[in-house]
Amino acid sequence: MNIEQDKKMDFKDVLIRPKRSTLSSRKQVSLERTFTFRNSGNTWTGVPVIAANMDGVGVPTMASALTKHQMMTCLTKHNDFGDWANLLDGDDAEQIKHLTAISVGTKLDAWEEAKKIIQSFDLQWVCVDVANGYSEHFADFIKRVRQDLPKINLIAGNVVTADMTQELILAGADVVKVGIGPGSVCTTRIKTGVGYPQLSAILECADAAHGLGGHVIGDGGCTCPGDVAKAFAAGADFVMLGGMLAGHQEGGGEIIERIYHSDQLDPETLEPLIEKKDFIQFYGMSSDTAMNKHSGGVAHYRASEGRTLEVPFKGSVNATVLDILGGVRSTCTYVGASKLKYLGKCTTFVKVNNQFNASLLK
Ligand code: 5GP
Repeated sequence: MNIEQDKKMDFKDVLIRPKRSTLSSRKQVSLERTFTFRNSGNTWTGVPVIAANMDGVGVPTMASALTKHQMMTCLTKHNDFGDWANLLDGDDAEQIKHLTAISVGTKLDAWEEAKKIIQSFDLQWVCVDVANGYSEHFADFIKRVRQDLPKINLIAGNVVTADMTQELILAGADVVKVGIGPGSVCTTRIKTGVGYPQLSAILECADAAHGLGGHVIGDGGCTCPGDVAKAFAAGADFVMLGGMLAGHQEGGGEIIERIYHSDQLDPETLEPLIEKKDFIQFYGMSSDTAMNKHSGGVAHYRASEGRTLEVPFKGSVNATVLDILGGVRSTCTYVGASKLKYLGKCTTFVKVNNQFNASLLK
């Protein structure tokens, strides 16, 4: 048994120190980035925030909405040929292909199905996604995907350490997805004790990937626009969001109305006023809910590692997107970064005990 002595950090353990800046408005900041990928050789331009491949988030209507902001979506593994055909039916098909990934696990029959979809629609992105990217089988699978489709932009994950980031890039991945256990509906750390604080995971994996000409996605753990900015500042080329994009109209899902007794009284009857609030179910992709929905139950050998929640219904995703992108632009102006590209170079993190004043928050 070994213990690493230096403490690793989460988003909440740091703040970004402001710096003298010549930028006068956040309007001057560009969030667009252009990357050339190491293994596919393709060049990509867009706003590198990605909707996670989760039910209620990584769905076709979300992809259409986020395309308007030049943001990406990873559709869930459960979107089939027909879903892709519908999504790519309009005038914006090329733009959607530029910004939308198909997801697969490592089962060979699912890969054959996915390949058919990729080839039929000439898709540009595939995300090979497993909970634990540390098995030898996974790296072998990435090699196979690269062999089958040399020109595809290939995302592979999830891992949290430099060694495995490098191994996946050398196996053929363009972009490594980083994060084990930080997610809003993830229970891996509780069920298994396994994980790695997300800010440090991004810092270490980004450094390893960039040394080889690869890229990384910071996946999971962002709770507010400030966390998204910290993920970019730590070196993430892309940031993937589940919980922050959940609960919107574009995610689909049934709206559930809940009735509460408010703490205000009706002036006439002096009874507590009734308040109605709308919610949408949101759950982890390895929760009981997801397994019952997609795989006909929880396999006996695996514990469910995801939670099922009801999150407040937030209406259209556009307002949330503007809030997130506005926040990150503002971070850039605080440190003098005229482009998102420069945010990492312009950032000094300070370690903190208190991140914000929560005294008036319920
Ligand atoms: P969030 O942005 O909600 O904090 O994190 C989203 C990420 O959580 C997803 O992209 C995925 O990597 C991870 N995730 C989604 N569902 C589950 C699950 O059921 N269990 C675990 N351990 N992680 C999940």
